[in-house]
Amino acid sequence: MERQGNIRISSENMMPIIKKWLYSEKDIFLREIVANASDAITKHKKLAELGDTAAEEQYRITVTTDDKAGTLTVEDNGIGMTEEEVEKYITQIAFSGAADFVERYEKAGGDGIIGHFGLGFYSAYMVSENIEIFTKSYREGAEGVHWASDGNSTYTIGPCEKEGRGTKIVMHIAKEESEFLHESEIRTLLNKYCSFMPYEIYLNPKEDDKPVNNTRPLYLKQPKDCTEEEYKIFYRDTFNDFNEPLFWIHLNMDYPFRVKGILYFPKVKKQVELERGQVKLYCNQVYIADNIKEVIPEFLMLLNGVIDCPDIPLNVSRSFLQNDRQVQKIAAHITKKVADRLTELYRNDREKYENCWNDISTFVKFGCIKDEEFYKKVKEIIIFKNLSGEYRPLESYFGEEVSDEDAKEGKEPQAAYYVSDENKQAQYIKMFKDAGLDAIVCDTYIDPHFISYIEYKNPKRVRFLRIDADVAGALKEAENGNDSDLEELFKRALDGKNIKIKTEKLKNTAVPAVINVSEFMRRMNEMHSFYRMGESPEDLTLVVNAACPSVQAIKEAGEDAQKVGATQIYYLALMNFRQLTAEETEDFTAGYSDLLLNYLKKMK
Ligand code: ADP
Repeated sequence: MERQGNIRISSENMMPIIKKWLYSEKDIFLREIVANASDAITKHKKLAELGDTAAEEQYRITVTTDDKAGTLTVEDNGIGMTEEEVEKYITQIAFSGAADFVERYEKAGGDGIIGHFGLGFYSAYMVSENIEIFTKSYREGAEGVHWASDGNSTYTIGPCEKEGRGTKIVMHIAKEESEFLHESEIRTLLNKYCSFMPYEIYLNPKEDDKPVNNTRPLYLKQPKDCTEEEYKIFYRDTFNDFNEPLFWIHLNMDYPFRVKGILYFPKVKKQVELERGQVKLYCNQVYIADNIKEVIPEFLMLLNGVIDCPDIPLNVSRSFLQNDRQVQKIAAHITKKVADRLTELYRNDREKYENCWNDISTFVKFGCIKDEEFYKKVKEIIIFKNLSGEYRPLESYFGEEVSDEDAKEGKEPQAAYYVSDENKQAQYIKMFKDAGLDAIVCDTYIDPHFISYIEYKNPKRVRFLRIDADVAGALKEAENGNDSDLEELFKRALDGKNIKIKTEKLKNTAVPAVINVSEFMRRMNEMHSFYRMGESPEDLTLVVNAACPSVQAIKEAGEDAQKVGATQIYYLALMNFRQLTAEETEDFTAGYSDLLLNYLKKMK
């Protein structure tokens, strides 16, 4: 006999709230229903293992779409339910579970609960007008039970004929949700949420059909049992990326918490921006969501990977997760494993490490900036290219720590010179090389931020100067290169140009002058332009090389010739520093033409 019951929780108020919040993610209902089916099988399997019931040969979940009937059905051969259990678990627990979810959700401010886990059975009402359950318990002599409800205030329950043990959930899909009757849509959703679920799932099965899921995803295996080929195939299948990953990290931990997964370092496509990766979070082989920053350190999301953490409480708010000790430990463990893997590669296969560096350096640098613990673990394996194209550890450019006393007397930490654009800074590079000096190449967009971070972390051991920032300091031949007559001469000749003058005896006597730009002011300017705050004027110094014969010759020339000579030297230096403005080009061309004319006349 069918009988009617009232749902005690006022669920008619709940549905609009749930629908509103979960509108964009209502497809999670399928995950919830299939995960319930999977749990029901696990329970049966456990009972069978304990000898409480006969074992099942073929556990399976079947999903069927029926366009004509307007139904989507999920059937399992798990533990099943008796009538009392349906009353208890569905009418009471599932409905009160949803009420509880709504309450927590409200507390968390609307979008707090990760992957909307915990909504459970009730979530199917987001897409269904009515749901029927046909179920039969594993218990001996159990009868079939039929339950139906539109999810609002009443339900019916009574006995029914049912073949075999297990539960069949028939969702009568609402008219406006008819996409959930399409096999292709359901296949997409099963691929998204259920691809690693532990029991075989069949969609509209035909004879000899294959399951839609992989019940033993590679990450569950012991690393020693996985081949390189398997890792590559798993990568391709999971991320649909046909580029081979550079290398990977297999996480496999059971104690004191459980984390399993594989993180892949992908090849970088373009160097100009941070490329988001995809780290899929699973809980017991059930997909939760991508890139959950409360669980997985943010910088790791530049990688591609799957992580399965069964111990994470997912039906709590994001802010709770962020402060959860266990979750923090898991995140720290993953970070450590990544650092260990990089260190191992650096130590054991330097060639591969260097070959990969272009692809992984952004990740490593970003990771250092974002996570101090990560920085501490990898700081010795950060490498930079030098002017000869060889990689050297960044720390090899550091000096001894400057003591506080020495610092008081003006001693500065060791200068590490760097190049940010090998073409633009070619003249400086040549001078450095001629003088036997080295510099590192910092030409990716993250480098300016990264070197600031390194200075901040090592304030007594290193300061970074762009190759054009301290020409006088780096390239002077001797102390006391100051020639005040020469300085005055240039000041007079370049009066009106916005530049400071300094004289120095440089090692390279062929170069009459170079521009020096204040590192500090330049960085300020770069920061301002980055934040669109408007730039201040350049802070440039013309370092006139008193050791250069043509510079000395200027001293002997007449006043007009001095002006022409000094101006030309100025423009030459400026051209090696940056592109001339229109006005400067005009001025330079006119002066140069004059000079040429006089020269040619003289040489006649
Ligand atoms: P949760 O799964 O989080 O406990 P649900 O609302 O999804 O909450 O389900 C409520 C309960 O209903 C489950 O705990 C389970 O006891 C029972 N249940 C749901 N689906 C099934 C099923 N397919 N087979 C057996 N029992 C089920």
